[in-house]
Amino acid sequence: MKRALITGISGQDGSYLAEYLLQLDYQVFGIVRREPGTMRWLEGIRDRVELLYGDLRDTQSLEVAFYKAWPDELYNLAGQVFVPTSWECPAETLDINTGGLARLLLIVERRKSDTRVYQASSSEMYGNVDGFCRENTRFQPTSPYGISKVAAHKLAESYRARGIYAVGGILFNHESPRRGPEMVTRKITRAAAGWAAGDKTKLKLGNLEARRDWGFAGDYVKAMHAMLQQPTCKDYVVGTGESHSVAEFATLVLAELRERFHGRFTNAKLEDFVELDPRLLRTGEIHDLRADPTLARTELNWKPKVDFPALVRLMVEADLAANGILTPSSLSLGAS
Ligand code: GDP
Repeated sequence: MKRALITGISGQDGSYLAEYLLQLDYQVFGIVRREPGTMRWLEGIRDRVELLYGDLRDTQSLEVAFYKAWPDELYNLAGQVFVPTSWECPAETLDINTGGLARLLLIVERRKSDTRVYQASSSEMYGNVDGFCRENTRFQPTSPYGISKVAAHKLAESYRARGIYAVGGILFNHESPRRGPEMVTRKITRAAAGWAAGDKTKLKLGNLEARRDWGFAGDYVKAMHAMLQQPTCKDYVVGTGESHSVAEFATLVLAELRERFHGRFTNAKLEDFVELDPRLLRTGEIHDLRADPTLARTELNWKPKVDFPALVRLMVEADLAANGILTPSSLSLGAS
């Protein structure tokens, strides 16, 4: 039985990955902080995973967790993930996102150098690129978050040169009903549940024209696992290959409401529900991010199953259900 250790197991990606690895018969260990934000996403598998206390800023706690898990595969998914927060706490973002990986890699090299390491790299590393982003596209990060991820990505690369199996999975934005409420997709679908319940408060958003390559997190964790099963290790880009604007996402959300609540949203326009808040505009905004996932498709045999409209639908359904408004048919859509 293979052993996997996941940092950030209680988050969106960590919980989907844990479910997937359990299906593959792994023994799953997860690192959680002493005061974790939420364990909600682990409810279904709580008795099948072993949770260990640790913090990416604390080497000793990582070492203890590593010894207990003694992993064949280590997935580093924990981190400070919100771009605006990285401007509030740049040093902390670097310490967690880059320093955290540095601490883990040192432990792997010294203690069990055959552990395969997955690093959660990010499309934010690219910055503003004209066209598709590939594995060899130049990184031009525009925020402390992006910089922390580039540094970690390079760190993984340099340990690879020292013989450690370490890959950077360059994942484009991936969402789900488990996405943090501060991210724009979930912010919109949560607000939509309010609109369905009769709330007339307009949702304040920033740049509606920003475009992202949004996929479903449950699909993406399978690519993470596949990356660690390759004969030689290398980095892969994971995304759908399409980008959509924030306005398109919100418009599709409204269309979902229209379909479900006959008559009520028939003449509804986006501006009836959404207003611009200039304080939410970003310096260093990345205007459009689009993946070219050809390498992942050909070498990992990976393809996303959930397309953009299906992603919007499942997120809207889940937030309506969470507010007791509708029982969704697709809530069971997990990583299976
Ligand atoms: P990111 O791509 O990792 O920064 O993911 P986010 O979901 O935080 O942001 C995606 C895009 O949506 C960015 O270009 C934001 O500028 C844009 N956006 C527009 N309004 C908002 C908002 O109210 N909240 C967030 N989080 N993003 C917004």
